[in-house]
Amino acid sequence: MTTPMSETLFARAATVIPGGVNSPVRAFGSVGGTPVFMASAQGPYLTDTDGNQYVDLICSWGPMILGHRHPAVMDAVRGALAKGTSFGTATEGEIALAEEIADRVAPVERVRLVTSGTEATMSAIRLARGFTGRTKIVKFAGCYHGHVDALLAAAGSGLATFALPDTPGVTGAQAGDTIVLPYNDLAAVEKVFADQGGDIACVITEAAPGNMGAVPPLPGFNQGLADLCRRHGALFISDEVMTGFRAARDGWYGRDGVAADLFTYGKVMGGGFPAAAFGGRADVMEHLAPVGPVYQAGTLAGNPVATAAGLATLRHCTAEVYERLETVSATIGSHVSQALDAEGVAHRLQYSGTMFSVFFASAPVTDYDAVKATEAHRYRAFFHAMLRQGVYLPPSPFEAWFVSASHDDRAVDRVLAALPAAAKAAAAAEPA
Ligand SMILES: *Cc1c(COP(=O)(O)O)cnc(C)c1O
Repeated sequence: MTTPMSETLFARAATVIPGGVNSPVRAFGSVGGTPVFMASAQGPYLTDTDGNQYVDLICSWGPMILGHRHPAVMDAVRGALAKGTSFGTATEGEIALAEEIADRVAPVERVRLVTSGTEATMSAIRLARGFTGRTKIVKFAGCYHGHVDALLAAAGSGLATFALPDTPGVTGAQAGDTIVLPYNDLAAVEKVFADQGGDIACVITEAAPGNMGAVPPLPGFNQGLADLCRRHGALFISDEVMTGFRAARDGWYGRDGVAADLFTYGKVMGGGFPAAAFGGRADVMEHLAPVGPVYQAGTLAGNPVATAAGLATLRHCTAEVYERLETVSATIGSHVSQALDAEGVAHRLQYSGTMFSVFFASAPVTDYDAVKATEAHRYRAFFHAMLRQGVYLPPSPFEAWFVSASHDDRAVDRVLAALPAAAKAAAAAEPA
């Protein structure tokens, strides 16, 4: 498999787009090599600009839960397009999408639509501060909530990939009210509340992290956070941008039943278009403009095409879809383990619902320090061996793998067939 066209395009891109990409992880920085430029997609497959076909195991980082070009989603998009692309007014589709979300998640009584996950978490935090009249926020190392200034402290995802402890451009004032704690460490949260509980507006956490690889919450962690927040008058924000409507019909909430005060959504609910949301308790949400004093707005919020794609996607996420995600992720995960075991490579296969990832480590990985201590060089070799055999994995050891309901047995078999050679490459890998 060769990719001359991708190489040409990457060189051209780098002359006009910083680093040649519009989101850092796409640059292959942590795995090396030239990023592959995709031209089209169908079901579980991506086709690059040289005509090579790959089984897609990122699914646009989650949104493509039904597979690419699902007929019902394409029909909904075509139907919306035919009526106009944006009005800047209220539309009925927005109500339907908000109702669909509220119907699925009992604690979500009101929903505000936005255009990206970043906007959802940024707005939820502003609302929490406006509602409580407090300034401080608590987040966890390795949890990524978009590129919100105040949340770019020890974040995962692109930042973990590039091992930046912080980013220039965020001022001390913007980050100074953020308290970053180790993930899964309830005692650390208790201590911070005991010391400065009266100043804490909210705790925000990924419902089940996927942005440092899959590092699920230990039993009782999310409930413990919710209880501490309630006791101290802070709001609990569950960031379900990744897990929402992927982990289950009602998101991670459907798995652990922990009622947050606010939830944030994105990815799946946009059906491949820029749509996201935050929602929760009516008394909190009614603090938003125009009913309340906390300002929040968006020119393209509730865009009719995005809304139609999101609604069609959610409506087609049936019980069979979720069953298939379980089967496919369990099948691929167990075969990854078998292949690595056969080569004697120490590893942990971890799941946050049906998102999963492999860590080259010999003990369970429960926080960001443990993530950083894993053998990332083995992933590099594993990734490239899979890519050469037509399987597109996340180009970073610190990202989750995503499957779709369109991953049929043929697509899964192609992944399984590639694993032995990739496991051999991982076993032979030397630190850079
Ligand atoms: C992707 C993600 C975001 C940011 O969403 P964008 O649409 O990329 O701005 C926020 N939180 C979590 C948990 C995410 O996975």
